[in-house]
Amino acid sequence: MPYVVTDKCEQCGICVAGCPVGAITEEATKSEIHPDICIECGTCFDNCPFGAIIFVEEDEQVPADAEKAEA
Ligand code: SF4
Ligand code: SF4
Repeated sequence: MPYVVTDKCEQCGICVAGCPVGAITEEATKSEIHPDICIECGTCFDNCPFGAIIFVEEDEQVPADAEKAEA
């Protein structure tokens, strides 16, 4: 799950519109990246105006504020 949306998300929708494979959906409080669909192109990471998307290494722990994304 390399790319993760954190609680900094302001639900602007830019990442949802820009994802080439439709891997991002808008959930109740923030957008969510679906790792089974994501091809890790990095577009959302580059385009988020709020710096809400982070890259997490496979063997790294997800920061506490991003953990709710996995609910
Ligand atoms: S671009 Fe950033 S702030 Fe906007 S919806 Fe996506 S993650 Fe949230
Ligand atoms: S890294 Fe690319 S494929 Fe994955 S969610 Fe972001 S824009 Fe979509």
